[in-house]
Amino acid sequence: MGKKQFKAESKRLLDLMIHSIYTHKEIFLRELISNASDAIDKMYYKALTDNNHEFKQEDYFIKLTIDKENRELRITDTGIGMTKDEMEDNLGVIAKSGSLAFKKENELKDGYDIIGQFGVGFYSAFMVADKVTVISKSAGSDEAYLWQSTGADGYTIEASEKASTGTEIILKLKENTEDDHYDEFLQEYRLKSLIKKHSDFIRYPIKMDVTVSKPKEDNAEEFDSVTEEQTINSQVPIWRKNKNELTDEDYEKFYNEKHFGFDSPLKHLHISTDGTVRYQAILYIPRHVPFDYYTKEYEKGLQLYSGGVLIMDKCPDLLPDYFGFVKGLVDSEDLSLNISREMLQHDRQLQIIAKNIKNKIKSSLISLLTDEREKYLEFYKSFGRMLKFGIQSDYGMNKDVLQDLLLFYSSREKKLVTLDEYITGMLPDQKYIYYATGETIEKIDRLPKAELVKDKGYEILYFTEDVDEFAIKVLRSFKDKEFKSVSDKDLGIDDTVEKPEISDSEKELFEKMQRVLITKIKEVRISKRLKSYPVCLTNDGEISIEMEKTLKNMPNAGELKIDKILEINPDHEVFDVLKEIYKTDDEKLTLYTNLLYNQALLMEGLPVSDPVEFTNDICKLMK
Ligand code: ADP
Repeated sequence: MGKKQFKAESKRLLDLMIHSIYTHKEIFLRELISNASDAIDKMYYKALTDNNHEFKQEDYFIKLTIDKENRELRITDTGIGMTKDEMEDNLGVIAKSGSLAFKKENELKDGYDIIGQFGVGFYSAFMVADKVTVISKSAGSDEAYLWQSTGADGYTIEASEKASTGTEIILKLKENTEDDHYDEFLQEYRLKSLIKKHSDFIRYPIKMDVTVSKPKEDNAEEFDSVTEEQTINSQVPIWRKNKNELTDEDYEKFYNEKHFGFDSPLKHLHISTDGTVRYQAILYIPRHVPFDYYTKEYEKGLQLYSGGVLIMDKCPDLLPDYFGFVKGLVDSEDLSLNISREMLQHDRQLQIIAKNIKNKIKSSLISLLTDEREKYLEFYKSFGRMLKFGIQSDYGMNKDVLQDLLLFYSSREKKLVTLDEYITGMLPDQKYIYYATGETIEKIDRLPKAELVKDKGYEILYFTEDVDEFAIKVLRSFKDKEFKSVSDKDLGIDDTVEKPEISDSEKELFEKMQRVLITKIKEVRISKRLKSYPVCLTNDGEISIEMEKTLKNMPNAGELKIDKILEINPDHEVFDVLKEIYKTDDEKLTLYTNLLYNQALLMEGLPVSDPVEFTNDICKLMK
């Protein structure tokens, strides 16, 4: 039978494993045991929920066998097994195809340790073995198959024999080199300590034949070397353990073992409650955004166990979307094993757990915010955007959960502040929470229309993300203080020096200018907010210029146009010039009006409507 080639991406990963100079090659064992455990989970669940199946606890285990003579290590499981097609699909190609792309992008750049932190599953076997054989028999099938590969040159699959359902993986260990002693993976004590270190929490017994000395029957003074089968791991799942028994490292190791993320988590929560619904949970707040987080492929959810039995790998109903980045698992004895995905949604127990979890996540984030600001900033950089979307969605239903978690850049503090901190810093005569929107902090800093508010000494929150203003519109107010954009028609600043009523001739000037810009703006107005700049653009109504930009970029945006106002600074020299020419030189007035309008657009971060015309206009000015 001919050799089949690995899919291109898998081949690259395989190369990486074969030629790995990674110093912790030992993690291959963790990966293979974890796969075996997953496979047994599936079998176990099937057996428990299938009435025709006779269930025997002792049928579920993993076994390690050492064959020193042939340099072989064998890992056998009583899991669900694989069919021929599954072997082809699962072992011929990497399941998580994004992982390699992610590795390429990030490993070198950020020093991510992808092999150690994430593991690369089955393929890690090639770090220690030069031939890997997998013999598997799928549940419900009579046929067994043998998959074999010596590495990059491909693999073969052929019919085989196997007595019982499950999978057996045989590693032919590489020859020792000066630096690497692959023999160590044939030594009982070494394997024992590796299991203890990485796989102690695995629910099923990991068995191994171990040599022990026993007193001779006829003479207790003398000892015999005998082989006996031992279970190496403690099997107590980590979430059942007492928090005091566990270290940060234990939680981190579990995060890696479970493949919750490529990173080390920012924080973990260990919950154990005896309330209306009893449950245990271990939750993690990741440090980095998963590579597929903002794609359709990303599925939020927590692993769900019922009394220690995995019933769902990603239960979405346990997490609100805005906390969709949280990883971890929940185990509850009060949940039925036989529950279906559809029924789960309406399950009261589950709803109570979900609500409880939501509150726990919130309070843990609050404590991060108050006690470990640096860490919170790191979190916010990764996931702050989700919180804002959370406020914006569902008509602001979640604002009570989320508003305390928001941060915005402050003009005064020159760093991110909470809304509460903003309120605390408000001046005695200040009525509103002011904000300004723009592409970057630097650009907002120079926004003409923010001048007056800044001049008053009021702090301004800078909105640089598209979602910011939408979220704030939903929020409306915080602690009874309303939000106000610096481009709002009425800034709510009473003591503005009253501008004199505009004269009839000024009115006429504005009308003329407005006619020039008839298709572009709604009105030309005198400005109360400008100090040093000649003009600015503002808006009438609820939708701001920034929001218009965002909305226009959305699919199905349709025709959307907001009413823009061109404001003129009456104290600026340009205003005097305008007043002088408007009676005598219509052509010049048209030219100046267009120029001022385009300047206002540019300062607003908007494209000028006709760059060629704009350039010509400037040339006219120079001549
Ligand atoms: P991952 O475990 O991250 O999905 P792996 O490369 O480790 O990626 O494994 C790929 C797939 O091969 C698994 O998802 C599983 O379907 C299958 N597999 C691996 N080991 C076993 C096993 N011992 N028993 C049954 N299926 C297995």
